Order: sequence, then C-alpha cells, then structure tokens
Amino acid sequence: MRLGGRPILLLSEGTERTQGKDAMKMNIDVGTSVADAVKTTLGPKGMDKMLVDEMGDIIVTNDGATILEEMDMNNPAGKMLVEVAKTQDTETGDGTTTAVVLAGALLHEANSLLDQDIHPTLIIKGYKKAQMEAIKHLDEMSEKITIENDEVLQNVCATSMKSKGTAIEREEILAKIVVKAVKQIAEKSNGKMTIDKGNIKIVTKEGGSLEESRMIDGIVIDKERVNSNMPHKHSNPKIALLNTPIEVKETETNAEIQITDPSQLESFLEQEEKMIKRMTSKIKEKGVDVIFCQKGIDEIAQHHLAKNGITAIRRVKKSDMEKLSRATGARIVSSIEDLSENEIGSANVVEEKKIGDSSMTFVEGCKEAKAVTLLVRGGTEHVVDEAERAVVDGIGSVTCAIETGQVVTGGGASETDLAVKLRNYAEKIGGREQLAIEGFASALESIPRTLAQSAGMDPIDTLVKLRSRHSSGEKNAGVNVLKGRIEDLKKLRVTDPTKVKKQAISSGSEAANTILRIDDIIASTGGSRRSEGPEGGMPPGAMGGMGGMM
Ligand code: ADP
Ligand code: MG
Repeated sequence: MRLGGRPILLLSEGTERTQGKDAMKMNIDVGTSVADAVKTTLGPKGMDKMLVDEMGDIIVTNDGATILEEMDMNNPAGKMLVEVAKTQDTETGDGTTTAVVLAGALLHEANSLLDQDIHPTLIIKGYKKAQMEAIKHLDEMSEKITIENDEVLQNVCATSMKSKGTAIEREEILAKIVVKAVKQIAEKSNGKMTIDKGNIKIVTKEGGSLEESRMIDGIVIDKERVNSNMPHKHSNPKIALLNTPIEVKETETNAEIQITDPSQLESFLEQEEKMIKRMTSKIKEKGVDVIFCQKGIDEIAQHHLAKNGITAIRRVKKSDMEKLSRATGARIVSSIEDLSENEIGSANVVEEKKIGDSSMTFVEGCKEAKAVTLLVRGGTEHVVDEAERAVVDGIGSVTCAIETGQVVTGGGASETDLAVKLRNYAEKIGGREQLAIEGFASALESIPRTLAQSAGMDPIDTLVKLRSRHSSGEKNAGVNVLKGRIEDLKKLRVTDPTKVKKQAISSGSEAANTILRIDDIIASTGGSRRSEGPEGGMPPGAMGGMGGMM
C-alpha cells in the first residue's frame, strides 16, 4: 500500500496474510476436514473414536459433541464447527454430528461453486433461500404428536440412543424409562409444554446389567448415611439441608489451649460435647428426621444424631443440595441456629438402598417440584458411560419432540425428501443462485450418503435410488443401516424430532455462511490482529486464536 509514493506499513513484521479465494479455500479445507473426522460416527453403524488426552486418559465414544470437545481445536474455522456442535447440543441435546456433517458438506459444495466462479455472496444468498425453504418443508412433512403418543416418543428416544452403537443393545429398555422420566417432569404452561431437563438426575452405577436401569420418582444421592446406627428409613420425614459442617468449630479446636492439669482437659472435652449436644437437640427440637449436609459431620455429632434417631448424610454435592432443595421445599441453611419451620422440607420416604455393592439414599415422592432420577446400570464403566451419553441424547430428543410436537422419519428419509423439494425449487429460481440451492440440496444428501457408507452400501447408487423413490412419492424411503438396504424407515420406527433437524440445518448453514464471508486472514505471530472484507468483515470472535492457523 502506498500513499504519496511512500509505502505504509499496516502490519507488523512476521504477520502472515492470506487473502481472497486462498483464504476462503483454506478455511473450507479446515472445516471439511473437521467434519470428515466426525462423519464416520453418524448413525447406528457409525464407528467409535478413541480419544487420548495429554494425561493418557482414554475415552472411546461415538458422540460428535464429545469428540469435538476433546479435539482441542485451535484453528478458527475448526472452532466454528465446534461451536455448531455446542449450539446444537444446548438447543436440542441431539443431532450434533448431523449439524457438523451438514456444515462440512455445505462448505464442500461451496468449494465447487467457487471453482465455477460463483461469487461467495451469491452462494450465501442461495444457501439462505434454501435454508428457509427447507425449514418450511420440514414443517409441512412433520407428523404432529402430543405428549400422549408414548409409542412415537419411545421411537424418537430409541432412534437417538441407538446411534450410540455397540455398547447399548437393548435401547428400548432405556427408551421406556427415559420417556417416563421426561413425561413426569413436563409441565404445561400457557398451553405449551415446557420441560426443565435439570429436573432429571442421572445416576450411573457399574455392575449389574442395563436391564436393571430404572426411573425413580425422586432424587437418588450416591451416598450412604454416616453412621450405621442411624435409621435406614423414614416415612414422611422432615428434611433439613445444611451447608456447614456439624462439628465443633475449627477455630475453637485449633486454638491453642494451655492445659495445666488433667481436669482442665476433661472440662474442655465436656465443653465440646455440650456444644455438639446443643446443636443436635436444636435439630431434634425442630422435628428434623433427615439431614443432608454439604460438609462433614464429626464422630461425636454422628453419635448424638444417631441417638436421637436422626439420619444424616454428609458431603453431599452442591448440585444435589440444590436439587433436593427444589424438590423437598427445604432451604439450604448455613447455620443450625437458622433452622426454622420455613427451612424444613419433606418427602414421602427417605430410604437407604443397596445398588450393586454400594448404598445410596433415595428421596422419593417429593411434593414441591417434579424431580426424577434415572438410575443407569451396566456391566462396565465403558458401558455405563456410553449409556449415560445415550440417555442424555434420549432426554434431549424426547424433550424436543414433546415441546414442539413434531417428528419426521429418520435414516436420511427427511433429508432426501428435502433435497428433492429443493431441487424443484431451485429450478424455479434459476440463474446462479439455482446452483447454490442445488448445492444445498446435495449437502443435505450427505446424511443419507454417510449412513449408506456406514452400512457398507454404495453411496452413489443408494442416493440415486433414494431420489427416484422419493420423486415417486415414497416419502419415508431411507437407509436401513442395520440391513444395508433402502426401506420404509417409518415402518422401522426410525423417528427424529423435527426440531433437531431444523436446528442442524440452521446452525450448519450459518457456520458455512460465516466461513464463506471471510476473505482475509491476517495472522500475527503474537501481536494484534485485524480483518477486512467486502461483506463487512467477520463476526466478532470468529477469528479468535489465529496463532494456530499457520
Ligand atoms: P447425531 O449426533 O447427529 O445425533 P447420530 O450418530 O445420533 O448423530 O445419528 C443420527 C442419525 O442416524 C439420524 O439421521 C437418524 O435418523 C439416523 N438413524 C438412527 N437410527 C437409525 C436406523 N436404525 N437406521 C437408519 N438410520 C438411523
Ligand atoms: Mg444422535
């Protein structure tokens, strides 16, 4: 750059700058390779990935979000795809791989459009039209359901859990309890169903089999009572939640005390005991039967509590304390002195039960708020971990299905149908945008294509057949990955919530569009960075962490 013949140095030395198509292609390459990395995990025949971190810890998983999270990407285009997965996860709780695969496919299609000299602005415009059209068609093709459609909800749940693959063989068992749990906590307000997934607690315990998994109407705390002399069961107990230790205060025990003769020591110990006694009688006075304590409970206190028939559980996690508070109506207090009628909660039963070789505390029949626990069992740590992730996905998809009341056929059926519709639409639009819309249609087909590949089917052959069956009105034709053939997937009960598809399409195409808007990469080896571009540059944060790019 020159001004009046003098060169102007805009960038400091050592800054690397990539512009125009090169910059775009570079980002596209990164985006598509990230998508390629997770692609093979899509669907029930998806492969697992083994992730090893710096500490040598190993995770074997099939979950797109987990993989991307662990990949520790420090490249901006890659990070954007991680964001896609995260958004998908927070918005719907399922469909992360789908969203990332879609974003990757959109970038891949954009690449060939760029090669045909179509300007990125036009590609983006076409993609946006296609996106809106796709969302519209999704609404039209969806089956409408309500919370009463248990069977469909279980299908939705099993479909999202099934893709977690090998570890989980009997997903219907889990699907039943997941649907039961979500229905239990669903609430109707202003004619709409709302579901606070935070009201479902998942407790995993290895040992035992998946069939032993169940739903508990209440909260299960993975802890036993501090002292076996305490009652193991209370009916209609009063419950207190304490976030301070029950013991003689630290400052007092740690204080230096000069003891000159044995009687002094005795009186000191007596003093201590008196204090503890006072605390427990205060608890007793209030009629408390069960205490959940976030901190420790010392031995003298345990003894006195047990003597008074009070059951106490110590070192309860903060998150559990909060759940208990919501469900039992008890308030978390920081001093026993504060304990009054208002702070005390209740439940139908608090009981210690043996699960496998450990004891857990069941707080059942909570009246204040709906709270349920899914107790997930499985033979090994790997099985319960994957089962837990599957249950989380299942909860997400059932929640989506109930909240929006719409489902579509999975296995690539809905995507193929959308692609056929988009191609018809593209013809009406004409011009160069038509090519972009057709590119969008091909990108949607990356889902059936990937599923076909995972089943060892010929992807091109499968797509051609799928298209023709959809064109002749077979709306539910999709890839039966388990049998490796095209079938009516509605009959096979492979069902996805429409919201998951919509979100995947939206966040996938937004990420692709964002990447396509970038035509200038300025990477400094440390100092400041900046950008410029005809479309008004990139969104804030889009190029964070440029250092890793070069
Ligand atoms: P995501 O992270 O996107 O949810 P998954 O690995 O869960 O990825 O795969 C979801 C895809 O697998 C969906 O398109 C769904 O319809 C499809 N799918 C699930 N079960 C089957 C099945 N039995 N046959 C064919 N496709 C299936
Ligand atoms: Mg899934």
